[in-house]
Amino acid sequence: MKEIVLNNSLVSHKMGVLRDKNTSTKEFREIIKELSTLLCYEAFRDVETFDCEIDTPVAKMTAKRINIDEYVFVPILRAGLGMMDGILQAVPTATFGFIGLYRNEETLEPVEYYFKMPADIAGRKVILLDPMLATGGSAVNAIEQLKKRGVKEIRFLCIVASPQGLEAVQTAHPDVRIYAASLDNGLNDRGYIVPGLGDAGDRIFHTLG
Ligand code: URA
Repeated sequence: MKEIVLNNSLVSHKMGVLRDKNTSTKEFREIIKELSTLLCYEAFRDVETFDCEIDTPVAKMTAKRINIDEYVFVPILRAGLGMMDGILQAVPTATFGFIGLYRNEETLEPVEYYFKMPADIAGRKVILLDPMLATGGSAVNAIEQLKKRGVKEIRFLCIVASPQGLEAVQTAHPDVRIYAASLDNGLNDRGYIVPGLGDAGDRIFHTLG
C-alpha cells in the first residue's frame, strides 16, 4: 500500500523548526502535537462513515458519522506518547492501548517490555503512533503483536519516515498504510534518520544529556 506523505508548505515550515537543534522543548512538543493532529485527520480521510439524521437549526439533513469506538490509538512507548495530545485534539474520546518497545542500541532490534490493550482489541482497528520510522524494526514488531491479538486493520502514523523503514513495514505488512509528515533521505550508522530531528523521545521528554 503506497505511503501518504503530507505535502504542504506549512508542514514543511513546521518540520524545519522541529528539526532545528536549537528549538525549545516547548515548541518541539507543540509542533509534534500539531503534526499529529494533522496526520490523524489524514488517516481518517477515507474511513467508513454511516448516515445519521439530524436537525440543524435550519433544516433536517443526513449527516455523516464515524464509529469512533471501532478505533484504538496505540502509541509505541516512549516517543509515541508525544503524539497523544495531538490525537486527542482531533478525537477527544479516543481509546488508547500501549506498546512498550525499546531499541537495543547494538543490534538495533526492538525488545518488547509492555503490551496493554483494551480487552476487546480483536477485531478493532488500530492507529499506531511513533514519531520516527527509522529501521522499521519497532513498527514491524508492534504490528505483528497487534495482528497476533486479532487486530484486522492498522494504520501507522509517524512524523519522519526513512526509506528503509517504509520498505521494512511495507514488505512485512503490505496491508498497513503509513502516514508521515516527512520522508527523509536515509539512516546513519547508529540507526538515526538523516537529516531527521535527533532522538524524538529525548527531545519530547527533555532528557537530552
Ligand atoms: N529514533 C529517534 O528518536 N530518532 C531517530 O532518528 C531514529 C530513531
